[in-house]
Amino acid sequence: MKETFCKERQVRLVEHYQVVIIGGGTAGFSAALYAARSGLSVLVVENNLPGGQIVTSPDVENYPGIEHISGFDFVETLKRRRAESFGAQLLSGQPSEYALSGTKKTLTVSGKTITADTVIIANGAKHRKLGCPGEEEFSGRGVSYCATCDGAFFRGKDVCIVGGGNTALDDALYLAKLCRKVYLVHRRDSFRASAITVDAVLKHEKIEFIPNSQVKQIRGGMKVESVLLVDKQGNESERKVDGVFVAVGLQPENKEFAPEVTLDEAGYIVADESCKTNLPGVFVAGDTRTKLLRQLVTAAADGAVAATQAAQYLQELA
Ligand code: NAP
Repeated sequence: MKETFCKERQVRLVEHYQVVIIGGGTAGFSAALYAARSGLSVLVVENNLPGGQIVTSPDVENYPGIEHISGFDFVETLKRRRAESFGAQLLSGQPSEYALSGTKKTLTVSGKTITADTVIIANGAKHRKLGCPGEEEFSGRGVSYCATCDGAFFRGKDVCIVGGGNTALDDALYLAKLCRKVYLVHRRDSFRASAITVDAVLKHEKIEFIPNSQVKQIRGGMKVESVLLVDKQGNESERKVDGVFVAVGLQPENKEFAPEVTLDEAGYIVADESCKTNLPGVFVAGDTRTKLLRQLVTAAADGAVAATQAAQYLQELA
């Protein structure tokens, strides 16, 4: 079998794997751990979001069996100490040119063609944008999508965070430790975040909740200077801020798999708890599939299920 040397990882890549996993986040590395541990040859292709969404989470406290851990440490442990130690190989690059319908699946990564008996899609989802004037213009100059990555730049300053889910509220609490003032702007007056977090946010003296409001425009010169807000009645108001953190949820990036793989209207890959897609030998795990609850624990569970289903499919093929 032809081998290619991958300098970055100091491993020899082969051209064919029993399982290729697209995406190196919680779902992908959980799948890799289960598949490699059951003796299958496994390649994980890490795309442009290494570690997935969780890598930017300051503190994970709702993963059963772990009291506190940073998102970064969680994924690093899963990746290096678990998946890799059982023999899964890793390749960094943007996969493309998929042909997934046949018995032999193919994809291209950085110009290299790789074939596989089974593919597990675990590519997560990317940050949704607000889409208001100024967002694009000030991206990296005061507009951020990651509080743990960029929060330190706003130490002692005033910032605004937009959203009403767990990410926005966790980030608000994180930023309140660093910043002078945190405005939490949400389009409704109730939250999607867990009750314990909502309670902590509403009680926090540095966080001012601005309900029923949207960001109409992000303003500034060289960098962000203020946000223009509009409430449900159409009243406008301006807040002086140095930073705007956007945490309005995720959206999947699955267009490249369609039409071979069936997507729902929102672009999620259609699958039930079996993690089977419409294509034999192609499975899906984590945030990128249709599901009720997008959490670390369900991503990890999906990884285990998808890998087990892939192993069963291979047995039936043999
Ligand atoms: P999310 O739960 O989907 O919440 C997105 C929030 O943004 C919602 O409050 C939504 O408002 C708002 N929103 C959406 N589009 C908007 C727009 N165009 N303009 C203004 N607001 C907009 O997303 P998330 O907070 O990123 O969480 C994603 C998943 O990860 C969730 O399943 C979450 O539970 C999970 N997560 C869990 C933890 C944890 O357990 N500690 C931490 C982070 C994330 P509406 O409410 O009005 O729709």
